[in-house]
Amino acid sequence: MCRHLGYLGPAVPLTELLLAPPHSLLHQSYAPQDMRHGGTINADGFGAGWFAPGEKSPVRYRRDVPMWTDAAFASLAGASTATAVVAAVRSATVGMPVVETASAPFAEGNWLFSHNGVVRGWPDSVSLLAQRLPVADLLTLDAPTDAALLWALVRHRLRAGQEPVDAVEAVMLEVAAAAPDSRLNLLLGNDELLVATAWWHSLWVRPGPGAVTVASEPIDDDPAWVAVPDHSIVFASKTTVDIRPLDPGRQEP
Ligand code: GLN
Repeated sequence: MCRHLGYLGPAVPLTELLLAPPHSLLHQSYAPQDMRHGGTINADGFGAGWFAPGEKSPVRYRRDVPMWTDAAFASLAGASTATAVVAAVRSATVGMPVVETASAPFAEGNWLFSHNGVVRGWPDSVSLLAQRLPVADLLTLDAPTDAALLWALVRHRLRAGQEPVDAVEAVMLEVAAAAPDSRLNLLLGNDELLVATAWWHSLWVRPGPGAVTVASEPIDDDPAWVAVPDHSIVFASKTTVDIRPLDPGRQEP
């Protein structure tokens, strides 16, 4: 069921964040520990988007192969440092294609987005929500997947100027209402902030001095990792981490 990770902080070599830790995304691609709801490995592609120090636009790399098979990424990660990262390894939901463009992170401008989970009743359950999008957005979806549609819904709100945390919360709650029992761990980031939801999947956060990491599973045994309660939203900058309950009764912002 996919695993994802977001980081903000001092420049770190990508290898140290994504490949080297004992339970890195690389390790989680073949030996995840907390898949909970189906799936065994995350071998249907992977991706990473990162900001090199001083850069306002991310570099994005994504593939439709298992992370452990991609020597080119290992080489690139060894030569790259980042002050902000959104990365994911994918376990495709049954019926959804294994193609490069279905791998997170989805991107526009300086935004990077990932979804860990599944929209139940896809696609009929969310057809009314999809109809609110410009038809051009539907025709240019990255891939015919639930995750790509979730990104289009969030992106539509960001384009309209909505605050990122409100955009993510609104989409999560409207999809949860339209497609009950969906698993909706969303992750949105840029070079200054991370927004992540925990909705029927694991999520952890590690606040550090001048840094923050959010991840589906802790990447090492650092005691600073804190489990995010289910049905919560995390809003983090390099120096602040705010976790609050998601209220399905809350009016759409
Ligand atoms: N349902 C999404 C996809 O297939 C996310 C996958 C996951 O979390 N396993 O791309």
